Amino acid sequence: MVNLFQSHSRSFEDNRHVYPVVSRRARGMSIGVDLCPGRCTFRCVYCSEFGALTSPPSDVPTHCAEQARGGIDLDLLRRELTAMLAAILGGEIFLHPPFDETPDAYRRLNDIALSGSGEPTLSPAFEAACALIGELGQSVRGQEPGKWPRPKLVLITNATALHLPSVWRGLDALRAQGAMEAEIWAKLDAGTEAHYAAMNRARVPLDRVLQNLLTAGRRHRLVIQSLFGELDGRPPSADEIDAWLDRLDALRQGGADIAGVQVYTVARQTAEPTIRALSDEALVAIAERVRSRGFVADWFGSGR
Ligand code: SF4
Repeated sequence: MVNLFQSHSRSFEDNRHVYPVVSRRARGMSIGVDLCPGRCTFRCVYCSEFGALTSPPSDVPTHCAEQARGGIDLDLLRRELTAMLAAILGGEIFLHPPFDETPDAYRRLNDIALSGSGEPTLSPAFEAACALIGELGQSVRGQEPGKWPRPKLVLITNATALHLPSVWRGLDALRAQGAMEAEIWAKLDAGTEAHYAAMNRARVPLDRVLQNLLTAGRRHRLVIQSLFGELDGRPPSADEIDAWLDRLDALRQGGADIAGVQVYTVARQTAEPTIRALSDEALVAIAERVRSRGFVADWFGSGR
């Protein structure tokens, strides 16, 4: 079963943009949309896509007009999404390996996720993709209430480009139409500039990320995703964890709706050998500290 959960292959049959994932964090099926393949404003030390990323870190996030592995074909995206929704909601996908190993409790669709092998908010097709997903979500809404009880779009992002107007137009339109709930799962791996630089290796200042998280959390439900590992053989210091917790507190006090905090560690091959998985015990201790500050927290070890 570990292989099933660790399998986040971006390829599925002949699809170019859409792939299915059995998600342990979503506790169900997620339909991934690879919206900006190969482009990112971070160079995370733990990135499993690192070898395929092409754009250098920049101070100002820019759209990936010329994508490393081809642009988004919206007609193709529509066809692939329509077919994937039918395969999951109709159950056909669970007849085939490796999805025939999916536990019964996970045989429900949790979300459509803008995610993939790059930073989705950099895509010039972001707004159009949100509109398309909202339209398809509406079309199946209520047809399979047990299999997709809450049609939801999840944006998985490093938060560096959440200030782009196209991002808010896309997400706000979904909500305004009442088409789907939008949730933002955003990365925050550090509380200090030094740890942020070591983990995410971006020239986008941490303050920019924090401001974007605050804006995002005031408009949509926010789930914070934080990866901790042993960097050069050392776990994050107590001071670093304190600083990170203080950042969470500050976001909440500023009005961000933080629905949960996911503490996790390395589970796949990493860009650099200098980062290793943190022990389950250390992750549990961090999650407990998050809970002690009044947040909902979950943790995911390297083998869980
Ligand atoms: S934000 Fe994601 S895609 Fe970008 S470098 Fe980090 S792990 Fe890789």
